[in-house]
Amino acid sequence: MNNNLLFSHRNQEPESSVLYIVGTPIGNLDDISTRALNILEKVSLIACEDTRQTKKIMSKYSISNKLISFNKYNSFKKIPKIIDDLKDGKSIALVSDAGMPSICDPGEDLTNEVKSNGFEIICIPGPCAAITALVSSGMASSKFVFEGFLSRKKNERSKTLKEISKNKKTTILYESPHRFKQLLLDLKEFCGGEREIHVSRELTKKFEEHIFNNVDNLIKIFDKKDFLGELTVVIKGNEHVNKTNHDKVLLKKELQELINAGLSLSAASKYLAKKKKLKKSTIYDLH
Ligand code: SAM
Repeated sequence: MNNNLLFSHRNQEPESSVLYIVGTPIGNLDDISTRALNILEKVSLIACEDTRQTKKIMSKYSISNKLISFNKYNSFKKIPKIIDDLKDGKSIALVSDAGMPSICDPGEDLTNEVKSNGFEIICIPGPCAAITALVSSGMASSKFVFEGFLSRKKNERSKTLKEISKNKKTTILYESPHRFKQLLLDLKEFCGGEREIHVSRELTKKFEEHIFNNVDNLIKIFDKKDFLGELTVVIKGNEHVNKTNHDKVLLKKELQELINAGLSLSAASKYLAKKKKLKKSTIYDLH
């Protein structure tokens, strides 16, 4: 390592009235930059999601600094206070429990407010689970879609899943382990069991694991097994899926929805055949 470079970073003073967005590790505490440590040591105060989490990294690197809690429950109250501190010339670092703040973590509202009050934001980049999983997957990664956590509201969830099913680009999702099996069932329903996905579990940690398979096989694998630890799901784009099969999956789903709504198989097939400009028997035979 170039020690002069390290030295110059360690001595760089934070600028006043600046909000620093500091990326921290997603598991392995070694994954933090010298620049990030320098800023955490020298800013006027650190706004963090959970002080206990942030103290772990501070204690590993012998940093002591003022911490204030900033999370989704208190951000409303804390944002005006942080803006006042910036007005007073303070430098503030924002960290989340893991990874890049603002990416499915508190920060978005704060950065909007900081910018609209005319203050500067400087990002000290660090690990992000989405990007780490994407590049580990080996799937197309120069253009991709990041959906974060899927909504639990049925309509919103279905709308996003339909978009994913058609998208040619790789999609990245966050999911909690206890909702993983439901996610697989939803992916089967909307994208078909052949869609290939890559699941990254416990990235950068001792039990890091990567599983690549199609949705049907993953449903079988996890039928009787619990999924433990943090996970990020990377879904292969639609271009790799057999188009005819994929269309069939969506048609079958639409047919079932019409039948559930009270139409007979024959009436539903006739309606869909007209709508899709297909033969009625093609639709009828899907049932
Ligand atoms: N801001 C974070 C980032 O930059 O990655 C994401 C925070 S979000 C609240 C937490 C989700 O990120 C988890 O539910 C999981 O889907 C994903 N995640 C975080 N750490 C992970 C890890 N070590 N391995 C796999 N996924 C992880």
